[in-house]
Amino acid sequence: MTQIAKPAAILSIAGSDSGGGAGIQRDVATARAIGCLPTTVITAITAQNLSEVRDIQRVDLKLIESQFRAVVEGFDIRAVKIGMAGHSSAVVRIAELLREYELPNIVVDPVLVATSGGVLGDIETAEAIKEYLIPLATTIAPNQDEAEVLCGLSKGEIGCGVEGDSVWSAFRDMGAQSLLLKGGHAENWQGAEIIIDTLYTENSTTEIRGRRLNLPQHATHGTGCTLSTALACYLAVGNNIEESARCAVAFVHQQLLKG
Ligand code: PLP
Repeated sequence: MTQIAKPAAILSIAGSDSGGGAGIQRDVATARAIGCLPTTVITAITAQNLSEVRDIQRVDLKLIESQFRAVVEGFDIRAVKIGMAGHSSAVVRIAELLREYELPNIVVDPVLVATSGGVLGDIETAEAIKEYLIPLATTIAPNQDEAEVLCGLSKGEIGCGVEGDSVWSAFRDMGAQSLLLKGGHAENWQGAEIIIDTLYTENSTTEIRGRRLNLPQHATHGTGCTLSTALACYLAVGNNIEESARCAVAFVHQQLLKG
């Protein structure tokens, strides 16, 4: 039998956003724009638009697993982005599969709340992300709200009593190798002209500064998905985490400018 070479690809494990602006739809568009081949494992289907999440249907674990095996066995997966897992049991199964296939360059975007405020992951899902996914991740890219939930902090505490270094230290205790803490949602930056995303690794802290664009909230829907997928793509082609984080932040900025 002729062996077909496995095409190099990235894998997005995420939910479907019926509005098209975030989730799987955004991840596929991002990977293609960067020039990587996207493959997908859909974990949940959401019914939503820019103002609300109306319904969520989880994909059963068996189908999550068969999507995963089909993709990993048919493609040369160079990086993985995990977005909305949707349920703690899905997080556990995804972690088992990631370990079984020893996939490289794992980017975790701990999706818990939609930009519109809809809940996309409950507290058990957050706990499972901490226990099972963070220790496997090359990097984790939470926004401020998600970082606060994962670190057991109250809303608004980061930057207002709790500094980034302590957040990194909490993630390191969870087993994280690196952390890209996004500054875009930070309350205390409202009105400021720059956004600072900070990459923490074992050996360095790198601030990535960008000009804040004054966009309505709905225009930023999906930026977390774009950033984490872009990070996976840049890691997939051999960049280190610092280079990948800089390129991913620049890519998001470019996309926001395009509108
Ligand atoms: N994944 C899905 C399926 C979503 O619907 C959303 C937001 O609605 C997200 C992820 C997170 O989006 P964002 O990139 O705006 O954080």
